[in-house]
This record gives sequence, C-alpha cells and structure tokens, in this order.
Amino acid sequence: NKFKDGLSKTRNAFVEGIEDLFSRRKKIDEEFYEELEEILIGADVGVNTVMKLIDELRVEVRKQKIEEAAALQPILSEKLVALLQPGEVKTTLNIAESGLTVILFVGVNGVGKTTTIGKMAHMLKQEGKKVLLAAGDTFRAGAIEQLEVWGQRVGVDVIKQQSGADPAAVMFDALQAAKTRNVDVLLCDTAGRLQNKTNLMEELNKIYRVIRREIPEAPHEVLLVLDATTGQNALSQAKLFSDKTGLTGLVLTKLDGTAKGGIVIAIRQEMDIPVKFVGLGEKMDDLQPFDSEQFVHALFT
Ligand code: GDP
Repeated sequence: NKFKDGLSKTRNAFVEGIEDLFSRRKKIDEEFYEELEEILIGADVGVNTVMKLIDELRVEVRKQKIEEAAALQPILSEKLVALLQPGEVKTTLNIAESGLTVILFVGVNGVGKTTTIGKMAHMLKQEGKKVLLAAGDTFRAGAIEQLEVWGQRVGVDVIKQQSGADPAAVMFDALQAAKTRNVDVLLCDTAGRLQNKTNLMEELNKIYRVIRREIPEAPHEVLLVLDATTGQNALSQAKLFSDKTGLTGLVLTKLDGTAKGGIVIAIRQEMDIPVKFVGLGEKMDDLQPFDSEQFVHALFT
C-alpha cells in the first residue's frame, strides 16, 4: 500500500490514461497503438523501450488473434512486469555474512542522498542492525549538520570532521570507529557537486582505496541516488556515474513527486544496474525495497 500511495501521481496520469484508452477504443488499430505509445512516452518510459513494447504487443495480437482492446490490457501489464525483471542481478542489499558491511552513497546534490541515508539507517536499525553514518560530504555547506539531524532522528551516531576536511580521512576515521564499536553497517555519504566532475570522481576513487585497504571486499554496495522527478536527466546521471564508478545499485527518490514513474522502466532497460530502493516520501519510513511486481501491481490495481 505504501507503493500505491507513493505512486498516486503516476497512477493518475499513466493508468488513467491507459484505462481511458482501453475504455474508449474497443478495437486494436493503428490509432490505438499511437495513443498507447503517446501515454507511455509521456510517462517517461523512454522512446526505445516504448517502441520495443509496442512491437511485442503487435506480435501477441497477431499470434493470439486478439481483436478486442480489452484483451490486450493484461498482456500489457505482463509485459511491463517483464520489462522490469532484474534478470540475474540481485536487487536486495549485499550484506556481509560476518563483520562490517560498508555502503557508499553517490549522486549529485539535491537528489535526496542524505535523506536516503537517514531512511536506510532507520530501516537497518529496525532489522536489528547496529548502524553508523560517515559524513563524507565535507564540501557542501550544511551537509554534515543535515546528516547529524538524521542521525539524531533515527538514533545512530555520525562520524565527522570539520567542513572542508579530506573525505577519505573521514572515511578512515569512520572505518576505525565502526570496527571498535562492532558496527554491522556503515553508511557513507559523499560529495555531490556536479561542476568539476573529474575532482569528484578522483575523490570517490580515493575513498574506495581507503575503504579497500581496510576491508578488501568493501564497499559492499555503491548506491547511486537519482531523483525520479528529473526524468531522462536521471538516466544520463546514471550513465555518467556508472562509467566512472563501480555502481552496484540505484535508489530512485521522489517517485511520489512525479507523474512520470515510467522512468523506472527506462532505467531498467538502459542500465545493467538494478534499482534496489525507491523513495516515496520525505519521512523516515518512506524508503521501499524495489519489487517489480509490486510496482506494476500498484499501478494497475
Ligand atoms: P542531497 O543533497 O542529495 O543530500 O538531498 P537531500 O537528502 O537533502 O534531499 C533534497 C530534498 O528532497 C529534501 O527536501 C528531501 O526532503 C527531499 N526528498 C528526498 N527524498 C524524497 C522522496 O523520496 N520523496 C520526496 N517527496 N522528497 C524527497
């Protein structure tokens, strides 16, 4: 139900459009396909994916000799679920079997990185894990304080240095603290300034090196946080970061704030990296593990 509430804007635009189409048009003809195409592209599903989807529907219509538009609706939802299937990739968090798990969060400013870290700290704490936060964004004014606010809210400690400090040094401190305090999961914030990309990528690489020196199999996850309301822009950020950093998963925030939730499908189609979590609001418990069937189900029922 969280999914259903959080996706209400997408439901309203996308599903109502589709339902309206299916109720108005009884017959499957070229105009029907054109209208369907428009609705899907309008929801940010992505042109390539929409073309592929429509082609597949045409094949089914021919194969099954479907004439009534209504008979196509369940096939459309099935196809959407299939498009979202993660395939071989694991969509759950990679948690170390024993010892410390290190999760690194990357992404540009404003996408909801700090909020996501706060929400995930809460989620892991609920699961009985001991969590620690590392204030690795020493660049953006207010980033450290904002993370501390979340730490207090959730009830987990934050390891920090002063603003402007070397993020790799903060990470080193955080790793030592995590070890001595028997922490299960260390969630690390990083800077997200988009100007000066090279420096940011170098900074991230230095952070990786510090982490690997301490724990060779870490970071266990590198999660890129993306703002769903930025649509296709989120997709280009995903491509940029995946070229430069070893991403293991995506977090798509602010799905509650957009009618273009189809971006989830576009990202799934164009990236090899799975969406592992979605943000459906600003509160502590508004982070949901991503489940493709639940997602499509929430859209259509
Ligand atoms: P950061 O710069 O990437 O750390 O971004 P913040 O965590 O500060 O988030 C930027 C804004 O987006 C804040 O106002 C958050 O409350 C808001 N935000 C983050 N995630 C979500 C979400 O899933 N839904 C909504 N509606 N707002 C969100």
